[in-house]
Amino acid sequence: MYDVIVAGYGPTGMMAALLLARAGHTVCVLERYTTLYNLPRVGIVHDDIQRMFQEVGCMEAVQPAMFFLPRYELANQGRVLMSTEVAPMATHGWPEFISVYQPAFEAELDALVRAEATVTLLQGETVVGVSQHADKVTVTTEDASGRREFEGRYLIGADGGNSFVRQAVGIEYESLGFDQEWLVIDARARRPQRPELPYLRQFCEPAQPGIETGHRLRTGPQPGVGEFKDRSDAHDSESRNDIRWSRSGRQRSASGRESFRPRGRGALSGRDPAHKPGIKSYAQVPAPIINH
Ligand SMILES: Cc1cc2nc3c(=O)[nH]c(=O)nc-3n(C[C@H](O)[C@H](O)[C@H](O)COP(=O)(O)OP(=O)(O)OC[C@H]3O[C@@H](n4cnc5c(N)ncnc54)[C@H](O)[C@@H]3O)c2cc1C
Repeated sequence: MYDVIVAGYGPTGMMAALLLARAGHTVCVLERYTTLYNLPRVGIVHDDIQRMFQEVGCMEAVQPAMFFLPRYELANQGRVLMSTEVAPMATHGWPEFISVYQPAFEAELDALVRAEATVTLLQGETVVGVSQHADKVTVTTEDASGRREFEGRYLIGADGGNSFVRQAVGIEYESLGFDQEWLVIDARARRPQRPELPYLRQFCEPAQPGIETGHRLRTGPQPGVGEFKDRSDAHDSESRNDIRWSRSGRQRSASGRESFRPRGRGALSGRDPAHKPGIKSYAQVPAPIINH
């Protein structure tokens, strides 16, 4: 029997496994995918997360994948509604927030987890059942060869936006009424950033709200999912001629809350169970539809 079973091996599961192992516990991580996800989701992380990178010893290795965004703006058709300076040094001793390439820090966390002798990492195991007992929790997984059971004293659900563990242990989710589908576009710039453009701007334009950061351009609710209203007439963002489309996908963005209070021997970790930002599928939007 393990001290703790962690369901999910995204950044939250990696960090949980690492900290628990270093605190002297045996940990079993169960992840449905056979490899790391290896594509970015997170765009921005705050100083408390950078502090955690420092704590586990990967800050130096991750720093080349980080990018400081000195200003955060809200704008409508080029008119800046709000402009905030981002503190280069915040409470936790690092910039208030930075942009980061997720696969880079996941690779570092993964290497640290694998170096821990008390962590058993099993990839390709989908958690499909949880049963709680007075002194343990039994977790059932499924892979191509069938079902297996694992026992732990505790279970942490680090299984992201559509958390199976949350539902299985009965932690309630209360919707706060915001539920939208967004189009997410990852692109590579064809040329260096124009100096007059902001590094982080949210477009408060009802026809097509959006956000642009160093490496991701995310547009808002669409009249038809998959449509991308080109902003080449706007002077405050990249146009489609400035970028090479890497991939696009639909993101469900909903807000809600849950107690995060453990139910029996099961608890949740990570912000996604409350925030629910699951990408439906990148494959569903294979090519952009440009809408002039
Ligand atoms: C487009 C987009 C933009 C985002 N931008 C930001 C941002 O700027 N800042 C920010 O902090 N966050 C952002 N997020 C949220 C981001 O997803 C998370 O911060 C981060 O990836 C969450 O890590 P996690 O480990 O909690 O969940 P995930 O990265 O989702 O990892 C969960 C893991 O659990 C596994 N899993 C799921 N179900 C099971 C199961 N039944 N059995 C076994 N394994 C399972 C999954 O395969 C996955 O590997 C964004 C998300 C999206 C989609």
